Amino acid sequence: MPTLTSADVLARLPLRDDLRGRTPYGAPQLDVPVRLNTNENSYDLPPEVVEAMLDAVREQLGGLNRYPDREFTALRTDLAEYLGHDLSPEQIWAGNGSNEVLQHVLQAFGGPGRTAIGFTPSYSVYALITTGTGTGWIDGRRGTDRDPFDLTAAHAAAQVREHTPDLVFLCSPNNPTGTALGLDVVEAVYDATDGIVLVDEAYAEFARPGTPSALTLLPGRERLIVTRTMSKAFAMAGARLGYLAADPAVCDALRLVRMPYHLSSLTQAAARAALWHADLLLSTVETIKDQRDRIVAALAAMDLAPVPSDANFVLFGGLGDEKAIWRGLLSHGVLIRDVGIPHHLRVTAGTPAETTTFLDALTHTLQENR
Ligand code: PMP
Repeated sequence: MPTLTSADVLARLPLRDDLRGRTPYGAPQLDVPVRLNTNENSYDLPPEVVEAMLDAVREQLGGLNRYPDREFTALRTDLAEYLGHDLSPEQIWAGNGSNEVLQHVLQAFGGPGRTAIGFTPSYSVYALITTGTGTGWIDGRRGTDRDPFDLTAAHAAAQVREHTPDLVFLCSPNNPTGTALGLDVVEAVYDATDGIVLVDEAYAEFARPGTPSALTLLPGRERLIVTRTMSKAFAMAGARLGYLAADPAVCDALRLVRMPYHLSSLTQAAARAALWHADLLLSTVETIKDQRDRIVAALAAMDLAPVPSDANFVLFGGLGDEKAIWRGLLSHGVLIRDVGIPHHLRVTAGTPAETTTFLDALTHTLQENR
């Protein structure tokens, strides 16, 4: 009897039909010296913040026999204060990473018989969460005659009018292209739909000066949601804490679908301690932005085509065989991201030393592949 592979067994399992043949999210997690592939913050947390988090977590440990505050009221209060814009705690929702927050939104406002649209290329997890909740995915388009990655207000609104989705994903700054959207895009899309408009601002803290946040558009727009995360600027990807701001009624809708006690008391305590030290934690943001701008300038000087970035990463084109370049960089100990756009790769901006290693490795790799 031939042994069955797990693919054989999977084919026999009573899996949902709409999940058959799909591949899971799979950014490589390789143990190499320079990891610039998932837009993490390269800086460890400062010891002072680690101590504060330890104290906060320690205080919770003896009480772990009890469920956490299901409403994470204190954390919502701290998050509202961090965001500003006169937001109240009732307007804040949080989850284990903004991915979970997105999932709550899709569970409440999507589902079988409903659709969501995103504008490709954008964050690939939107389609994953959409289909995972049984919602239909609509692959919207970006691009103008002059810029393949731009999304204009008129173009976005026209697609929304054409497809009448129940939910619209706008990503600003957009992953993987890096550029922030004008608020005119958000306003035009909001006016073009009766559905939910979700603006994902995971990278907002890295935006270039003068980039307004969609938080300014919340008053009077009950179908608008702005998501954020502590995974990037706050350097806490491992802690899993994402959040959103919206009308309090949106949070009431999310209460209907979240698992009870979804945010552990340890997560809540650690996140609060981090927020109390926001200034210190965010002090790496300027250095990272400098490295991002350095990467853009250096790649342009190499006759490559970097896309202007408001995030902690840079998408760049002008590569012949991007897969060969990706492999070449890996052989030099540098892991970046192939996001599936022909002739392009994406690199995270890390420390000055990491930038130097990346740029040197790229110079060598380009020579080796000439
Ligand atoms: N939104 C965007 C645009 C992202 O790039 C990411 C992470 N790569 C996330 C959301 C999710 O982040 P997290 O779940 O860690 O908050």
